[in-house]
Amino acid sequence: MIRVLPILLAILVAIAMYRFSAWRTARELDARSTELMDPALRDVTSRMAGALDLPRIKVNLYEIAPINGLAAPDGRIFITRGFYNKFKSGEISAEELASVIAHELGHVALGHARRRMIDFSGQNALRTALAMVLGRLIPGVGILIANFAARLLAARLSRGDEYEADAYAAALLTKAGIGVAPQISMFRKLDAMSQGAGGVTPAWLMSHPKTDQRIAALTQLQSRWEG
Ligand SMILES: [Zn+2]
Repeated sequence: MIRVLPILLAILVAIAMYRFSAWRTARELDARSTELMDPALRDVTSRMAGALDLPRIKVNLYEIAPINGLAAPDGRIFITRGFYNKFKSGEISAEELASVIAHELGHVALGHARRRMIDFSGQNALRTALAMVLGRLIPGVGILIANFAARLLAARLSRGDEYEADAYAAALLTKAGIGVAPQISMFRKLDAMSQGAGGVTPAWLMSHPKTDQRIAALTQLQSRWEG
């Protein structure tokens, strides 16, 4: 019992931290977002809604500058102001932004959104639990190993999710008559933004697998569907 106790305690702390960060994230999103109302986008979102047999797809605008798309644990979809501005300025098309919305819808539909909280709020819970256990077993270095392991695990978990969400988006975009091409050109544009003069890597790319690997996976799907 004495040996199990610290592990149980660590799990309890992890659950409490997970709940707290889920609550804090939801509150932050509520405070800083509104529904995205854009007639120029309505056409593509209603085509996707039609393909899913839904009355409409609600997208929220999250008032932060980094270029990102998010699926909240409660299933809401968010596009950041920074991302939306790229659409307003004409740098990305409605179809390209739709591909990001489709990808985030994939995370919700496939049940990733809850699991993604680990990623979303800094993998804190997982790290704390591991640090408490490993810190006891190997004083000093245990914490470092826990940090490393938590990051590695979250990265592995989310990599699989990303490819699944991409595939879901590709299928949805195909069914909606938009096609996979805007999804691929979106990746290329984001990649170019991060390589351009003084470019900052868009947040949406940082949390996702390498662009060429994602494009390769999509091209493979495309040729299978068309073949
Ligand atoms: Zn994703």
